[in-house]
Amino acid sequence: MDTDVEKFYGGIPYNKFGEKLIKCEICGEPTTMLGTKHCDRCHELKIRIERDPELTKKILAAIS
Ligand SMILES: [Zn+2]
Repeated sequence: MDTDVEKFYGGIPYNKFGEKLIKCEICGEPTTMLGTKHCDRCHELKIRIERDPELTKKILAAIS
């Protein structure tokens, strides 16, 4: 996923492949993922957390 802005059309940023860039709904970083509206990092982490939320709680408690 290329999130570097190449140009703007009507105030909307696009990368060099002509893909529209939007802000990730979770972290605010640019993403081309118009369907999920999540960047790769947030999408991957969200899926892993949803697979095992109890383990996620243990990990967060262990590292905080
Ligand atoms: Zn994100």
